[in-house]
Amino acid sequence: MLDRDHNAPALPPEIARRRTFAIISHPDAGKTTLTEKFLLYGGAIQMAGQVRAKGEARRTRSDFMKMEQDRGISVSASAMSFEFRDYWFNLVDTPGHSDFSEDTYRTLTAVDAAIMVIDGAKGVESQTRKLFEVCRLRDLPILTFCNKMDRESRDTFEIIDEIQENLAIDVCPASWPIGVGREFLGCYDLLNDRLELMSRADRNVKADSISISGLDDPELEKHVPGPLLDKLREEVEMARELLPAFDRQAFLDGTLTPIWFGSAINSFGVQELMDGIGSFGPEPQPRPAVSRQISPDETKVSGFVFKVQANMDPKHRDRVAFLRLCAGHFKRGMKLKHVRSGKPMAVSNPVLFLASDRELAEEAWAGDIIGIPNHGQLRIGDALTEGEDLRFTGIPSFAPELLQSVRAGDPMKAKHLDKALTQFAEEGAAKLFKPMIGAGWIVGVVGALQFEVLASRIELEYGLPVRFEPTQFTSARWVTGPKDKVDAFAASNKGHMAADSDGAPVYMTRLQWDIDRVERDYPDIKLSATKEML
Ligand code: GDP
Repeated sequence: MLDRDHNAPALPPEIARRRTFAIISHPDAGKTTLTEKFLLYGGAIQMAGQVRAKGEARRTRSDFMKMEQDRGISVSASAMSFEFRDYWFNLVDTPGHSDFSEDTYRTLTAVDAAIMVIDGAKGVESQTRKLFEVCRLRDLPILTFCNKMDRESRDTFEIIDEIQENLAIDVCPASWPIGVGREFLGCYDLLNDRLELMSRADRNVKADSISISGLDDPELEKHVPGPLLDKLREEVEMARELLPAFDRQAFLDGTLTPIWFGSAINSFGVQELMDGIGSFGPEPQPRPAVSRQISPDETKVSGFVFKVQANMDPKHRDRVAFLRLCAGHFKRGMKLKHVRSGKPMAVSNPVLFLASDRELAEEAWAGDIIGIPNHGQLRIGDALTEGEDLRFTGIPSFAPELLQSVRAGDPMKAKHLDKALTQFAEEGAAKLFKPMIGAGWIVGVVGALQFEVLASRIELEYGLPVRFEPTQFTSARWVTGPKDKVDAFAASNKGHMAADSDGAPVYMTRLQWDIDRVERDYPDIKLSATKEML
């Protein structure tokens, strides 16, 4: 991650209090549940200041229920904003749980930190590792939440060791679990010397937080039964000896992750995690762009599109482009320059996704995510600025892992198919390749389920039944190099060549052997599995 100059003045307070992050996890680890609790706390904590004692409990609970009802909308939204204590959180959803897609990777270009959720019984699972690797590419700071401690889970040291070895990152325990499964009592907060007890009576209420002065405090004996207390003291002593202490710089560099233990469904450990994001989590960070880096405190507004989502209503072709604001103070109605087309664009109805609802964004600051409704002008990777011709870098496009050809059920409607496919390519939902030889398209995706999703969307939104069929190719690589060499290469490999939707040359094959051969026989040509979005 890029760093601001240490001598740089502090960020304006509105920017400095922003925390923009994503949650990475394997399906079923508890991402949705944790998100829900974030939202509940985000809303509930504000309430708590207004009402006291018994009234507070009542108000809080009814507020929870209302938000539970809203869950369908809020939790499925791509970005959610909420306040927690003095902080303003922007939580960006990593989509494609079961259907792992490029979107998931790109989301991670829009955040400054990630929370890694693991299941205490399962440890580091495959999808978590994949996503972690993407975070590592950008040295994103990672906070870890070990969930489901109310169930039988692995030994604490074993979990920590596994993360350290599997992901090659230092782990510093921020809390230490007391008991496991049915015996799970809560955690000892190692950062604040507090005892946090879990309430099993009410899942939406966090039980007591008891201040103590270290592990020798006799107060502990009142709350933790003897054998568990002995074990706790012993383990914490060992942990303090064997594991690294918290080091904020190492955390910001992405080489150390603090870990909290908890149970999202019991709302346990969630608040401590949120406090961790608030107090350690990075402020909005600078962004790389061509020719210079963009600092969040620049007064001129700039940002980039990292996601485009089709309207929920399939009859409307409108889309929402999600913009990560990288600098400045945005105000509704501002005219920004759409750098790719060079045209001005009045951003008159931007949307901010608040925990409970969508709202028009009257203003937003560097670090925020705003949704901009549009008719297709905005594409992934596009920059909006107050005039400067910026191009943000580091927004990758990945070579698809699956390729299929597509045919319209009704050949008379081939034009509609072109239009539908172009739309999905622009949304980033699929890659589109036009082979040099032959007619038709080859469509590339990252997860197999995406073909089904595309087929049903084309039928639903364009009234056009389509068939996807296997092709002779299984992988695609972008071809770069000096233009004359690329042209000569393409001419002698016509049967393998295609153009992507920007016209860039692509080499397709079914054999890794072919790729190796090209690399050997054409030293001036580079085949790559990623491409920067323009
Ligand atoms: P996601 O797939 O990562 O979004 O996971 P979910 O949040 O949907 O959770 C998967 C399942 O685990 C659901 O049945 C949850 O109720 C359950 N779950 C989530 N958190 C906990 C927890 O702390 N303890 C237990 N026992 N179950 C949990």
